[in-house]
Amino acid sequence: MPEGHTIHRLARDLRRDLVDTELEASSPQGRFASGAKSLDGQVLTATEAAGKHLFLHAGPNLTLYIHLGLIGKFRRFEASTNRGDAVRLRFEREDFAWSLTGPHTCRLIEPPEVEEIIARLGPDPLRRRSSPDQFIDKAAKSNKAIGALLLDQNVIAGIGNVYRSELLFLAGIHPATPAKNLDGGVVRKIWDTTVELLRLGVRLDRIVTVTRADANGTKPGRLGPDNRLYAYKRTGEPCRRCDTPIATAPIAGRSIWWCPRCQPAR
Ligand SMILES: [Zn+2]
Repeated sequence: MPEGHTIHRLARDLRRDLVDTELEASSPQGRFASGAKSLDGQVLTATEAAGKHLFLHAGPNLTLYIHLGLIGKFRRFEASTNRGDAVRLRFEREDFAWSLTGPHTCRLIEPPEVEEIIARLGPDPLRRRSSPDQFIDKAAKSNKAIGALLLDQNVIAGIGNVYRSELLFLAGIHPATPAKNLDGGVVRKIWDTTVELLRLGVRLDRIVTVTRADANGTKPGRLGPDNRLYAYKRTGEPCRRCDTPIATAPIAGRSIWWCPRCQPAR
């Protein structure tokens, strides 16, 4: 599932490509035909990401709301390679096109609903001026495991299954630790690391968490696919710091990975 960095990167790339232009919108698949018709010919005025939610503001009062869900993709293609009837929404330009396939949500909404969606979310570490206070307060009161809490979009917005494993590895915290047992300073540190990692994810357009120090001096942008993460999907492989085999178990209904030695239960 795309995590927050993907959505913020999309907002940035769509802004670069399409803001201040007249949209040429269509729905080759037909399932968003009337929405595409409303957008067609309108000027895209702004793009906005909040957690895993993407908003495209067009014309005087239109907002397209997209949530990619588990399998959705919003990709830029050379115009000539951009065919196919699975495309829910396409924005056509002369040399390229943006194609949306398999989204969980793709619909036009009114401004009050944009505000409602954003208000329901916990703070998004990638949004300007967002403060961790609400996240720290909720963590201090929660009996939930920190590994579960990090996936709760109403507590902190944008973290998915990859980042939650990696953040807890870097914090040295066992994922089953009840959130309220963690010191406020530790939770703030998790926030700071999230800001740093998500920003790097937006810049590189992929998730890389292994630091240069742990990669024999190789920069994050140059790490190959097998060397970018500490814990996620590395069951039984040696920890990059202590060689202990990485463990896994379900938390909040999904697998999480950790190093039993670097992240002892407490
Ligand atoms: Zn370890």
